Amino acid sequence: MRKILNFGSLNYDYVYRVDHILQGGETLAACDLQEFCGGKGLNQSVAMVRAGLSVFHAGSLGEEGERLATFLKKEGVDIRYCRCLPGKSGHTIIQVDKDGQNSILVFGGANRCQDRGFIDQVLQNFDADDILVLQNEINELSYILEAAANMGMNIVFNPSPVNDEITRMSLSAVRYFIINEIEGYMLSGESDPLKILAKMKQLYPRATVVLTMGALGVYAVSSDSEKVFYQEAFPVVAVDTTAAGDTFLGYFLAGLCQQKAIPDCLKLAAKAAAITVTRPGAAPSIPRRSELSAAE
Ligand code: ADP
Repeated sequence: MRKILNFGSLNYDYVYRVDHILQGGETLAACDLQEFCGGKGLNQSVAMVRAGLSVFHAGSLGEEGERLATFLKKEGVDIRYCRCLPGKSGHTIIQVDKDGQNSILVFGGANRCQDRGFIDQVLQNFDADDILVLQNEINELSYILEAAANMGMNIVFNPSPVNDEITRMSLSAVRYFIINEIEGYMLSGESDPLKILAKMKQLYPRATVVLTMGALGVYAVSSDSEKVFYQEAFPVVAVDTTAAGDTFLGYFLAGLCQQKAIPDCLKLAAKAAAITVTRPGAAPSIPRRSELSAAE
């Protein structure tokens, strides 16, 4: 059976409630601190597992990373390819003011300490046709992409958070792009959804491209046809859209692994992501497959 490897970030999110977002030179007492396990890598592993997939997570933790490892393990993610390094884990310091505005400081920490020896060591446990899921919160992405492509792995890429580096990388080996409008714009230079898909198809003819548009739904075009699929977003009252994209990715892949057709994968993923946006928080808001099955 095909194995799924998610090589991605693991973060502690420290959320401070403050009266107002700090100005330069200012000192301010926070009203409250909450700690969460997060990172796009971790969230997507959780989403895939809750969608019913078996997932290996590879990544690097700092010396205080124990709780991140325990969290993933409890979720049922296989963490045998996670390692601990000296220094701090990746983390974010998030200020949320009384109006709900936030500001986020990201420290890459161990997420930015992947090295080629470690990457080779992890990848040697996988084969051609296995699935590799990647986001943009770890270093050495180009190396991982190239090594996995040489092995013939199926690469699923969610280039989030997007930056200039992504536009300079060779992405021709990617089989599935899961992108939002901003990432679509950065990769294609287009802002209209159909134009983004057309340009992506021209640039990456061997890839299936899934373009999520928040409450406006999702478009997709597969590698083997010109047809553009569209799935509306399910109408819900959104409370917090954090992890909507991560949930979407997990359930879309679960659909694919069950040999569902693209429109059915989009529908399943949109249904799951709609549940996520009705709940506060990131990983905890991702639904389990059993919550969808009645409607599937
Ligand atoms: P990202 O978080 O990566 O920017 P999106 O905001 O595009 O991703 O959301 C991913 C998917 O989640 C959407 O395609 C949609 O199916 C679902 N979604 C997001 N926001 C809403 C919403 N307000 N109502 C219903 N579904 C939503």
